[in-house]
Amino acid sequence: MALIVQKYGGTSLARADNFKHVARRVATLRDQGHDVVVVVSARGDTTDELLGLALEITPEPDERELDLLLSTGEMVSCALLAMALKALEKEAVSLTGLQAGILTDKAHSKARITGVDPGRIQRELKRGQIVIVAGFQGVTTDMDVTTLGRGGSDTTAVALAARLKAGRCEIYTDVEGVYTADPRIVPEARRLDDIGYEEMLELATYGAKVLHPRAAELGLLYDIPILVASTFVEGPGTLVCKGVTMEAKNKVRGIAHDLDVAKITLRGVPDRPGIAATIFEPLAQANISVDTIVQNASLENVTDLTFTVAKGDLTKAMKVVDKRAKQVGFKEVLADGTLGKVSIVGTGMQNTPGYASKMFRALSDAGVNIHLITTSEVRITCIVDGAKVPQAVRALHEAFELAKPQ
Ligand code: ASP
Ligand code: MG
Repeated sequence: MALIVQKYGGTSLARADNFKHVARRVATLRDQGHDVVVVVSARGDTTDELLGLALEITPEPDERELDLLLSTGEMVSCALLAMALKALEKEAVSLTGLQAGILTDKAHSKARITGVDPGRIQRELKRGQIVIVAGFQGVTTDMDVTTLGRGGSDTTAVALAARLKAGRCEIYTDVEGVYTADPRIVPEARRLDDIGYEEMLELATYGAKVLHPRAAELGLLYDIPILVASTFVEGPGTLVCKGVTMEAKNKVRGIAHDLDVAKITLRGVPDRPGIAATIFEPLAQANISVDTIVQNASLENVTDLTFTVAKGDLTKAMKVVDKRAKQVGFKEVLADGTLGKVSIVGTGMQNTPGYASKMFRALSDAGVNIHLITTSEVRITCIVDGAKVPQAVRALHEAFELAKPQ
């Protein structure tokens, strides 16, 4: 029978009875004759608690030690789930990231998976074991433990599904799938039956929390269908897969929003070759990822440059930029940490005019001022005041008639 990789998130594994519930689900799948690999997250808020503990010890914990500490949350979960399965008289074995052969680069706290050595998992599967793997972690070539960035267990699951050639990867969480918008903001938001990899990647990158962007990226790269569904409520979920509904009439599939946006504006920047490199190189070296960049048309060889970063990176980014201010000779640096992003996403928007203007009209009718605009082939994003984000999301959901079945 086919191999299935399942992943259970932290809210699905908070208390002992949750472990028993998940164990019964996994056991049922096994009884149907499937080979099963289960990836688990840390229980409930464990990762935040461990992080808080580290910060109580020191404001800047050593990143190698922090990764080792945070990786323990997932180990607790995988041991408990293996016990719960054994209690149901199922053969199960728990594996840490190291034991499961998850290899990463050395970028502590945001490591990337460089490869998976599947030997141990394959041997355990052959012996008839259900294999439980601690998500979110791997090891470097020096055998140092790394973590993959917050929410990284999704990425572990899809990477394993790709390497083990699983038929599909199932991500179980506390929501019933991918919605047209966050249902806490738009009560009439609809669950999508399916969504394309690119669309999911854009929604996730621009704020939808239901699947980690790097998991969507791996799905796209290796063409691994990903089912996102609820651990608690039986239902069809949402299948993230290839080329669905490209020609659907309603070409906007979903609205994403993100409140984690800060804007930095450099005023009076001399407009000459090399300036952008001088500013953005040190930001990259400081590991700060810059999202939107806008340079105004220059007047008398002087221009304004605006870009956005995550709020958590604002102080660090300001320090880096201030240092360059004298060297490059720009007038002033302004920061704004009260912004948010709203995005419309859909592959069908490609080459179809009118989506941008409809979006801007809807936002203007809702009294939402647009600070910056960026686009990709399948997405249009507006940066707006953070406080206006809920209003903006509702206006766009309505304007693109996303509550109607497509
Ligand atoms: N436990 C980690 C976190 O909370 C990884 C995960 O849940 O996927 O970010
Ligand atoms: Mg988590």
